[in-house]
Amino acid sequence: MSEYIEYKNGEFVVGGNPLVGALAGDGIGPDIWKATKMVLDAAVAKAYDGKKKIAWRMLDAGEEAYAKTGSYLPEETLAEIEKLKIAIKGPLSTPTGGGIRSLNVALRHHFDLYACIRPVRWYEGVPNPMKRPGDLDVVIFRENTEDVYAGLEWSAGSDEAAGLEKYLVENLGAKIRPGSALGIKPMSPEGSKRLIRMAIEYAIEHGRKVVTMVHKGNIMKFTEGAFCQWGYEMAAAEFPEVVIPEAELWEKYDGKLPKGKILLNDRIADAMFQQLLLRPSEYDVLATPNLNGDYLSDACAAQVGGLGIAPGANVGDGIAIFEATHGTAPKYAGLDKVNPGSLILSGKMMLDFMGWNEAGSLVEKALQQAIAGKKVTYDLARQMEGAEEVSCSRFAELIVAAM
Ligand code: NAP
Repeated sequence: MSEYIEYKNGEFVVGGNPLVGALAGDGIGPDIWKATKMVLDAAVAKAYDGKKKIAWRMLDAGEEAYAKTGSYLPEETLAEIEKLKIAIKGPLSTPTGGGIRSLNVALRHHFDLYACIRPVRWYEGVPNPMKRPGDLDVVIFRENTEDVYAGLEWSAGSDEAAGLEKYLVENLGAKIRPGSALGIKPMSPEGSKRLIRMAIEYAIEHGRKVVTMVHKGNIMKFTEGAFCQWGYEMAAAEFPEVVIPEAELWEKYDGKLPKGKILLNDRIADAMFQQLLLRPSEYDVLATPNLNGDYLSDACAAQVGGLGIAPGANVGDGIAIFEATHGTAPKYAGLDKVNPGSLILSGKMMLDFMGWNEAGSLVEKALQQAIAGKKVTYDLARQMEGAEEVSCSRFAELIVAAM
């Protein structure tokens, strides 16, 4: 009998036959979802000898949902995700014209999925631009709800911008060129602390050694500077036994991190782009405000050649949606052609998140083996010497065969 996953005392409680939500998505979504389901089901069956099984609950969203119900994100879908607590989704196209700005943003806001988590590591054989791509192995926690992404901006010449400009000039002495477009960058102690807390908890649970807050606090002192300050304050109050701030590392430990401890440090965002290229092995878990995290996630993924196979998740308290990080690539829709790797690895993340790490490792190892076998989808094949191009579904079959 399948059962709903529960969330009790801050923990997900997952039985042997959990109901998990699945949104295939638009464009190439159905192709990569089919491949992903095949791989995840096979890994779970293999890892647990058939004693565990995911009961997939298919949910409507995107263009098909719109055609059926007149809504891109039907109420029933939202209500069911709320009950299911864990779901995986393919890409959704952004409706053109008015209405919803982006379905992904709408989902994040609706469920307050405040952390966008992107693990980035290299898989042997994946073409990449680096000399030692394997040196980069980071997990990025990007704040998802605040910062310049909060949607608080007004166009140049609008009444709203003019009103705000007037207030800022008259009351705060701001110097603003008349007729400017204006945007607001809200960052709260609560929003920042909960994100950094989640990154530290992840580091503790996964044996990671360093959490780095990436900010532009030298320029934006009261927003990004405060993000970093709130992080240090929260860590001192909530993780005093485990977390050592960088300043203390030198004062008390001669620069050497004691066993079992986690280093909390911070880096200025622009310098961090250099650091990740020049000294990638020094970084581990990154906690960032929204915009920095957006840039860093793609830059890191490109470094390991994995933009097409980079996994991701949007997570809040008691709810998590795992997703392909690329879009719907409409020109390839229904051709059984594209790489399902991003959604498959997001599925691996999901299995780990559910505590089904054995199945998660099987997925990762088998995918690695399939790539090493050089029978890969077009995107990898065109960059790998001696590789044979296979379809999306064939690639999934090869992954299953490698288990
Ligand atoms: P895209 O769908 O990511 O596609 C851009 C290009 O990336 C494709 O043409 C293809 O490159 C490559 N690509 C993407 N996924 C791939 C895969 N699985 N395997 C191999 N190659 C892959 O970006 P877009 O064209 O800018 O966006 C299309 C739609 O997706 C838009 O409506 C956008 O709003 C939406 N979108 C949704 C999400 C999401 O749901 N999370 C994210 C981003 C965009 P080549 O042409 O070189 O083969």
